Amino acid sequence: MRNLPLHYQILIALIAGTILGFLFNPGEIVLENLSLTISRSESGYQVIEEPVEQDPKTFPFKDRAELLARYPELKSVFGEGDLAQPVTVEVTRRSLHIVDTAKQVELNYQRSVDRKIIVSSYTAASGEELAKKYPQWAADYQTYGTGISQKVMAISKWVGDLFLRLLKMITIPLIVTSLITGIASLGNATRFGALFSRTILYYLSTSLLAIFTGIFVVNLIRPGIGAVLPGGSGSLSSGRESVGSIFLDMIDRLIPTNIIHSLGEGEFLSIISFSMLTGIFIILVGGKHAKVLTDIFQAGFEVMMRMTMFIISLAPIGVLAFMVYAVSSQGLEIFKTLAWYMVAVFLALLIHAVVILPCLLKFVAHRSPLEFARAMSPALMTAFSTASSNGTLPLTMSCVEENAKISNEVSSFVLPLGATVNMDGTALYEAVAVLFIAQAYTGVVMPLSDQLLVAITALLASIGAAGIPHAGLVMMAIVLQAVGLPLEAQGVIIAVDRVLDMCRTSVNVWSDACGCAVIERYR
Ligand code: ASP
Repeated sequence: MRNLPLHYQILIALIAGTILGFLFNPGEIVLENLSLTISRSESGYQVIEEPVEQDPKTFPFKDRAELLARYPELKSVFGEGDLAQPVTVEVTRRSLHIVDTAKQVELNYQRSVDRKIIVSSYTAASGEELAKKYPQWAADYQTYGTGISQKVMAISKWVGDLFLRLLKMITIPLIVTSLITGIASLGNATRFGALFSRTILYYLSTSLLAIFTGIFVVNLIRPGIGAVLPGGSGSLSSGRESVGSIFLDMIDRLIPTNIIHSLGEGEFLSIISFSMLTGIFIILVGGKHAKVLTDIFQAGFEVMMRMTMFIISLAPIGVLAFMVYAVSSQGLEIFKTLAWYMVAVFLALLIHAVVILPCLLKFVAHRSPLEFARAMSPALMTAFSTASSNGTLPLTMSCVEENAKISNEVSSFVLPLGATVNMDGTALYEAVAVLFIAQAYTGVVMPLSDQLLVAITALLASIGAAGIPHAGLVMMAIVLQAVGLPLEAQGVIIAVDRVLDMCRTSVNVWSDACGCAVIERYR
């Protein structure tokens, strides 16, 4: 195994992890249907839970807030007056999924009321705490949450995280030394300007291409028409947040007020802009001092790169662990519900990754897309399993420089900036997901002008998203707000986000790497 080239080792780990993950996936726990009868009582409200095959149970509640905290599915009942009569609600397709992540236990409860899917998550530091905090789940946790599958999930997540910690440990020193050395070695500030503008042009054009591919596919497949999501249905409201303010906020983040704080907190945009300025001013100061500093950063860079190579040799273990966790912890039931939405995201990502970007490689960078993909494969597979562009950055840098033979000048600049700013996969995903939500929510396809607004905000959201797992999902709030869609509509798509995140992160890294090839050609 040790003598096998690294990309084969990682590939084997990826496949073995997927198989093991399926073997240890506990599957969905299907619960019986329930009738809930809500009525007023002397002390407030009461709910009678009536499962089909068991005795009914009655639960008292002081007020609405307490009742809705326990039964969010009853919100619609309370919307219509003050419960003069008892109301019965049928809760169907109930299922549970329990995920143990070594540091926390998560119980996801999915059910349908009136064809609307509702997903609630309950988390606690341990199984015992979960049972104490949410007594209604204590019995189910005892029965379903303590098996071998949960142990495997917890251990694989822990091992995977150790690998990611190693990568994160190296990322910031690597970015700082590499950016400063890369820019200082350009020798004059005009060359930096040219490199900078070409890079930004590449980022913007590929992200926009990705977004338009996504919009095209989602309009073609229309996965949201007929789908039902929480948050009800209605029309687009006007609570729109201005695109300008989002943009201004991003500019603010480019100027750190305290660089030590930014380094400590891992604020990528701030660190990158400060390192770039340092590189530029080393060039401008020139002479003896510039030589001393360039030598120091160069030496630092060489050491960090060697450390990176060592950490990368552990990638197969990390990838194996991540894949076991990712596959074993997925709730499979929800996949059926969201199948068309997922198909739309996959298809659009696929078109961007295997048609559009390879065309750029072939016709603009004059490189063989296949050979380039092979050179980048360790980074792409690591991005896939970790769902983190920032975490993968050390691998991306070493693949671009060592395997694809692209100069450090280009890679040190294009990759760290690209890991945060250039996220084609995320941009595309934002557009598809928001248009899907809009279709499900309004029942019709969004007007073109609104789709354009989605495109612009999706671009900004992707630029602002950090290269960490699920960042794209968090940033989606910006896009949803911009077109006045309810944030709770995100509730359901969270359930399948991990898989989509793995795919979009690989596309993000692939686009950064292709960017290096394109910029290298016009250096
Ligand atoms: N996980 C992605 C990345 O690291 C960001 C996202 O959530 O879309 O590139």
